[in-house]
Amino acid sequence: MNQPGFEGSYLGAGAKISAQAVLECKICWHVYDPAQGDETRQITAGTPFTALPHDWTCPGCGAAPEQFMVLRDTGRAEDAMAQAIARLEADFREIYNGKMRDVPLCNHSLHVQAVGFQPWQGHYLGVLVAPWFMNLVLLAGPDDNWTALIAGTKELTGFPSGQYEFIHNAREQVGGYKACSLFSPMNDFNSQMQAVDVARAVMVGLFDPSALERLDEGSRPMLPDTPAAVAQAPKLQRARPLERRAFITGQVQG
Ligand SMILES: [Zn+2]
Repeated sequence: MNQPGFEGSYLGAGAKISAQAVLECKICWHVYDPAQGDETRQITAGTPFTALPHDWTCPGCGAAPEQFMVLRDTGRAEDAMAQAIARLEADFREIYNGKMRDVPLCNHSLHVQAVGFQPWQGHYLGVLVAPWFMNLVLLAGPDDNWTALIAGTKELTGFPSGQYEFIHNAREQVGGYKACSLFSPMNDFNSQMQAVDVARAVMVGLFDPSALERLDEGSRPMLPDTPAAVAQAPKLQRARPLERRAFITGQVQG
């Protein structure tokens, strides 16, 4: 936790800033930008703040590096998402190489791949393709504390195309995450490329309200019968076809 009064301070916490971080001396406001380096000390452009020599001091006032504060850090958000995705892929590759490889329901022409991840409402949203499933996945963002998520808990999450049921999960490497089942098993897919195309279409369709309307005509049997039932849970019922065959039959091959 940050100590009161030191929020934003560099404080030697090198692991918390990326190679792109731009820092400012809080005494004289001198700015260190890694894109420019520091001519006065022969620090070449491209040197991250955390890679400066130990005896480097502020060119403006001679203050120690600990007196610098992060001004902006565009790399940090990208790094954090890339790391979260890498952990997710590594975790599920391990599951596949361990207990799933010989399980008949696996489609062995597919491999574990995270597709289309993007920051969304403070979390990271994307699709995870694996030889035995395709899930929409929410990973914890920088301000999420999902360590206490209870596996199996269900949660409805709204998108422009409807509401989707996410199930809470927890894994050793990934930590807490939320997953919405799109396809399982994966026998209908002929290639990784096709699975990735469908995953990309899901990411587009999620944010497209008209995706539901297009699917509505062909999916009437899945709608509840009575007006009361429609009023109670219309969005989930209407969204369900999206989660299944619709993207393969409708958007990708059509
Ligand atoms: Zn200074």
